[in-house]
Formats: sequence, C-alpha cells, structure tokens
Amino acid sequence: MDTGQCVHCGLCLSACPTYQITGMEAESPRGRVFLLEHIRDNPSLLNPDAMQYLDDCLDCRACESVCPSHVATGHMVETWRAQTAPILGDRGPEAMRLFRRLARPMTFLLGSPAGLRWFQRLVRLSQKPGVRALIARLRLMPPAVMTLARGVPVRLPRRLSRIRPVSQRAIATRKVMLFVGCIMDAVYADTNRHTQDLLEMGGVRVVIPQEQRCCGALHMHGGVPEVTRQWARENIRAFEESGADAVVVNAAGCGAMLKEYAELFPPSDSWHERARRFQDAVVDATVVLADLPLPQEKPGPERVTVHDPCHLAHAQGIRQQPRELLRRAGYAILEMPDSDRCCGSAGIYNLTHPDMAQKLLERKLEDIPPGVKWVAAANPGCLMHIQSGLQRGTERPSAVHPVDLVWHAYQRAGYLTRD
Ligand code: SF4
Ligand code: SF4
Repeated sequence: MDTGQCVHCGLCLSACPTYQITGMEAESPRGRVFLLEHIRDNPSLLNPDAMQYLDDCLDCRACESVCPSHVATGHMVETWRAQTAPILGDRGPEAMRLFRRLARPMTFLLGSPAGLRWFQRLVRLSQKPGVRALIARLRLMPPAVMTLARGVPVRLPRRLSRIRPVSQRAIATRKVMLFVGCIMDAVYADTNRHTQDLLEMGGVRVVIPQEQRCCGALHMHGGVPEVTRQWARENIRAFEESGADAVVVNAAGCGAMLKEYAELFPPSDSWHERARRFQDAVVDATVVLADLPLPQEKPGPERVTVHDPCHLAHAQGIRQQPRELLRRAGYAILEMPDSDRCCGSAGIYNLTHPDMAQKLLERKLEDIPPGVKWVAAANPGCLMHIQSGLQRGTERPSAVHPVDLVWHAYQRAGYLTRD
C-alpha cells in the first residue's frame, strides 16, 4: 500500500460519494488515506470509529479517476479489508462480520453449477407474491434484501452455461471465451445469450467452458480472498484449455476483478505469470462489440440514459463504447449528470450499508432525465439496485444492460431471430 503518494490536495473529495453525502473528512478518500497511513504506523489506532470510516468506502474508485498522484484509495481499502477481516473476526465492523457470516453460503450458491441452480430456485421462490408476503411478515430476511429483490427480473431465463456450451454458427475470424459469471448466469442469462449472439453476428466464435467459476469479486470486497484465489485458478485453467484469444465479460464488477488476478498471487508463485496472461486477455463485451462491423441503424424514437458502473468507468476506464453501441443500434442518448457516480450497489454494499446505499440510489434516480425509456447499465448489481428504485410500471423507465438493448434493436431490424 503506498499511502505516501498522497499530497493532500483534496481534489478527490468532491468525487467521493460518501463524502458528498456526509461532508466528513474521515468519510473522504484523503481521510481514508490518512487513516490507513496511521494504522500502518500504529495499529493501536484502529478503533471502532476508524474501522467504520474505512468500511464505509464503496470501493467505487471514483477518487482514483481524479487523483493527480495516482493514489489507489479504493483499492487500498479493499486490500486492508482482505488483510484485516480474518484478524478482526468478531471485533470488525458490523458489515464485515455480516459478510463473513454470509461467505460460506455464498461460496456454495455462487461457486458451483449445483449452487447456482439452488440460487435460481431460491430467487424464483422468493418472487412468488405469497412467499414474499410471508417472508416480509415473519421478517425472515433483512429489509435490505427485500428491497433489492424488487429489482430482480420477473422472469429468470435458463442459464446459458447449461444450454449453449459452444457456438458453431459464426464464420469465425477469432475465438473468445465468454465469461458467464454467477449472478449474470443465474439472473441475467438472456444478457449472456445476447452477448454471444452479437459476437457471432460480428464473426467471432464463442466458447463457454463449463469449468469456469464466479470471478470472486464479492469475496474479495468482503475480505475473504482465499476463495477468490481458488476460483481464479479454475478460471485461468478454463481459459488456457479453451484455446480462446480473449475472455469477454459483460459484468463490470467481474471484469475489474478478472483484470486484477495477478495481484492475488505473489511474483514467486507460478500462478502469478499465468494470472497475468489471463488478465491481459480480459476485455469488456462493449469494447469487443464496438470494434466489430455491426450495422448502423437509423435513429429511432427510443431514448436511453447511461449509468456508468464504477467498475467500468473508474476501474477500467470504459465510458464511450456502451454509448457508441447504443447509437449504432439507433437509440438516442440523453445524458444524466454525474453518470459515473456510484448508484450505491457496490457489490453487496446495498445489503451491508443500506442507509448510505439508499441515499445514493435516490440521488441517481433524481438524475434520470425525463422522457427516457431505458437506463442502460453494464453491471448486474447496478441493474438490480436501480431497478429496485424504479419499480415496475408502464410510465417508468427500466434498468437494462446495453447489450440487451442493442440485441433487441437488431432483432427488430431482422438481423437476429428470437430463440
Ligand atoms: S488521494 Fe490524491 S486527490 Fe486525494 S488528497 Fe491525496 S493526492 Fe490529492
Ligand atoms: S473508493 Fe469511492 S467511496 Fe471509497 S474513498 Fe474512493 S471515492 Fe470514496
């Protein structure tokens, strides 16, 4: 951790969502760098308040986009969490303890095909109105989980990893591995399917290795890096055996995690070099698709606003490609102010810090321009969180992945058939 690079200029303060809400120095990037520096020099300073200020960080990386000294505050806080959560145990902040309690069931639900099947079943069950009412009445779930559940799509499609293992349709110029993810595969499988269709439409062969696993980002953010490390090894092996030249990912949070796999292993570990080769091959779906010769459609009447997920805009520096794709497919874009400000989702931050997450969501909803039909966001956590605030209704916009919007435009134009 290099906190010494900070020159205390304060340029990061106005970019930080938790500082914007609280106005407190300790809830700012500069304050967190100061805390990390002092804790490192004197661990006894790690009192409950200091822990809370650090744990309130969204890891949104907005501070890193504006820092002239390239201080990686969000990344440093995440490393601090990973290192201290096992040591602190029950003395850690409440959110950290909650995550460690959830880690074991999450590892089962997200980490294997059988677990994902159960995850989908549980989500489907919780969507039945009677069950939902019963859960609420008996308070079987925390209110934050019930709020988030409002943003889950009503119809869960069949998981792509089970039904379309390898494509043969394209006259391929290259071969890529599609990273299907866990939440994407269980809840947004249509987006994975649409990503595959568009890649093939652009002449790319897609392989979907069955051995791939969740990227491990949630465990990493929550301070359980040993699980992330194990899944990283499995993903690296799946890519190496696939013969693909790239790993295409359509979830911003997964992409940011996959691009940092080499940091999970020390340079002396033989996995370090393999992880570096893997992370160099990772590319966001919107970047690949924007480079393909997909048709230019005439501008249509549908208006879209784009929310830039933190892990796409700040962690990967990708902003233009989702817009370029949407325009090419005929959508008109109405920009919202501060489109790259965190919506409050931030992994499972909306479950562990519901008050702050709801405040950030309200600001995001206020920023949506009137007259848009869609809010495009290339990350499942943002989609669920924003949709939970929009609810469902004919007049309200819906939160949708940009790949889905592009797919539907080309499908309406007759380039793609419905399956
Ligand atoms: S983290 Fe960067 S932007 Fe913030 S005070 Fe330090 S040097 Fe300035
Ligand atoms: S990562 Fe986000 S919440 Fe954390 S200090 Fe930086 S801007 Fe603030």
